[in-house]
Amino acid sequence: MVNRADAVKAKEVLLNSSRPVVILSHPNPDGDSVGSTMGLYYLLRDAGKQATPVLPAPVPGIYKFLLGDVAVVNPPADVTGKIAVVLDCSDVRRLAESGQHLQGAGCVINIDHHLHNELFGDINLVDSSAAAVGQILFDLFYPEPIPPPAALALYTALYSDTGRFSYSNTQAKTLATAAKLVELGADPHLVYSHIHGTRSEAYIRFLARVLGDVQLMCNGRVAYLEISRELLAEYALQEWELEELNDYPRSLAGVAVSVVARQGQGDSVKVSLRSKGRWNVAQLARDLGGGGHQNAAGVTLNMPLPQARALLRKRLEEVFALC
Ligand code: 5GP
Ligand code: MN
Repeated sequence: MVNRADAVKAKEVLLNSSRPVVILSHPNPDGDSVGSTMGLYYLLRDAGKQATPVLPAPVPGIYKFLLGDVAVVNPPADVTGKIAVVLDCSDVRRLAESGQHLQGAGCVINIDHHLHNELFGDINLVDSSAAAVGQILFDLFYPEPIPPPAALALYTALYSDTGRFSYSNTQAKTLATAAKLVELGADPHLVYSHIHGTRSEAYIRFLARVLGDVQLMCNGRVAYLEISRELLAEYALQEWELEELNDYPRSLAGVAVSVVARQGQGDSVKVSLRSKGRWNVAQLARDLGGGGHQNAAGVTLNMPLPQARALLRKRLEEVFALC
């Protein structure tokens, strides 16, 4: 649960301070970061506040329907003397990855639901039991008026971070909040259509190619998928098109942890970890320098792909040897 006194303070600062608000979140925007950024923006705009939504480029095409004709700023945004709200981001190093810093901000409000958030704000609203940051924002504002564009954006945050209301973070409260947001104007089919009905042909052909190379490790408990830079270039995919790729290896019977290791710039590998039930991939990612949630976490390893593969295999074998 978010601390009640902190929530009161955050709401007071957001709605009653004369300082402008800048809304920030992590690199590689996802449905929760875009949804909560735009949700908070529309809420503040409706309340007559001056707010700027900042989103790292490129904003995935599947979430652009939440932007309407709002002018979104790319980082770095000037936060000097302003209220900087940081959403869905466990530490300031992740902000810095997209060139954003918080120096000189008048007040930093940190709103997050990752395990191990570093509590870097002047006010911290952190609740790792919340399904999405969109849920924390809903709880903060409701029953204040929530205009339809904010309801749509917050619904999208919940829809995305719960895997369309199916992951283990989906609670009765999540569904009740989603129902309320639909009453307030969110259209579930519109959200589905934009996010899951707009795949490119290249993505489907890429899937057909890459899924044939899934490797099973640790007696079938781990599914591992590797994507080289050359393969990504061949299919000319945008990074955000790979967001749900990990759902395929995770869906295998018997698999507890799935890994997608994608070669990035230079000697870097972006590792995406997913798990089922009690398997805590946040701890695994954290041990390697990253973070996340119990069932979805990630880390960027600064090493060549073969070395990253060997390191991941070793760590996973250690984890599964203990069981
Ligand atoms: P994804 O695999 O979709 O990139 O990320 C899954 C989850 O792990 C998200 O909640 C994301 O914020 C978190 N995550 C991914 N990469 C990193 C990282 O390098 N550092 C931290 N702290 N969290 C990460
Ligand atoms: Mn989130």
